[in-house]
Amino acid sequence: MPVRLKTVSRRMRSRAAGVSMKTPVRPEIQALSAYHVAEADGMVKLDAMENPYAWPACLPEALQQQWLEVLRQARLNRYPDPHAKRLAATIRDVFAVPAASDIVLGNGSDELIHLLITAVAAPDAVVLSVAPGFVMYPMIALFNRVKYVAVPLLAEDFSLDMAAMREAIEQYQPKVVFLAYPNNPTGNLFARQQVEEIIDRAPGWVVIDEAYAAFAADSFLSRLREFPNLLVMRTLSKMGLAGLRLGYLCAAPELVSELDKIRLPYNINSLTQLSAEFALAHREILDQQASALCRQRQQMMERLQDMPGLQVFPSQANFILFRTQHKDASGVFAALKQSGVLIKDLSATTESLKGCLRVTIGLADENEKFLAALEMALG
Ligand code: PMP
Repeated sequence: MPVRLKTVSRRMRSRAAGVSMKTPVRPEIQALSAYHVAEADGMVKLDAMENPYAWPACLPEALQQQWLEVLRQARLNRYPDPHAKRLAATIRDVFAVPAASDIVLGNGSDELIHLLITAVAAPDAVVLSVAPGFVMYPMIALFNRVKYVAVPLLAEDFSLDMAAMREAIEQYQPKVVFLAYPNNPTGNLFARQQVEEIIDRAPGWVVIDEAYAAFAADSFLSRLREFPNLLVMRTLSKMGLAGLRLGYLCAAPELVSELDKIRLPYNINSLTQLSAEFALAHREILDQQASALCRQRQQMMERLQDMPGLQVFPSQANFILFRTQHKDASGVFAALKQSGVLIKDLSATTESLKGCLRVTIGLADENEKFLAALEMALG
């Protein structure tokens, strides 16, 4: 008791004297700003690679009722199944995960990236990827005090610079290599043979991040057995269920069992487990949406290519990267916003993305609004 009283009184004294406590937060964390999500109320939202079909409103009425019935059976007073066994089995079945591989689930694939980097974090550990690449790889490396090396992609088409990749792998001996396939924010698939060479050369794990698999023509999932150091990571976020926060990682069982040790218990909540199982049992609905979005992507691509002053990059994802060659990209972004259309301004992020904006494929009428506003903005 006396100890507690003393502590309180000291704190009260220092407050009264206007003395602030010295923060225990590491300087590199203090220097960060929290992940920024743009305000999008009432806007045409084409900034975050979400699927535009509203769940559950996109379902026939009878299926909506079935889903609600499933949720009604949830027992929220109990912890969820810690291994989400039924959901993992559904994922294995629906996505044809090879029998010899195991699955670990994450609260979004962001959490899986966290698990992977935490598993290898050590003073001499290096995580390697490419630039431009997915922003969470360097962020999470920093959270874990792990050195992050990004090898620049070739500026003309954002393909892999294999000479530089070979050199970096040799020099840094990375514990983990992350390759997003297709890449975010550029949208392209890297050449398959080059990715294979990287998997062969890498001394540690190679994570092929297939967040956009639903829109892409290629995948490494069926090839897990060929490469013992290969991990394939995916998410339901881009397929239509971003609100559930569910990612999955497939790899050799001995590798998954290491990740399972550092996974926080009950990381996949009950409502997500039930909803994801239900949604995946009706996978054809999600597949049809992905096909429709690929058709929309093709149309959007052609329309953008027809606009003078734009350099449009090929995409195997649900977004398109383009460069405004004669107009200031941030000005175009601001004009679009003014017209009620939110996309992503990447022009100030790195040199190779100078003048670049990224638009997510939406519903046909959303895409039309975007194209009309863009035409106006380009003048
Ligand atoms: N990987 C890539 C390449 C991404 O673009 C994203 C999301 N933008 C993620 C992983 C994370 O997805 P989530 O956490 O929603 O599963």
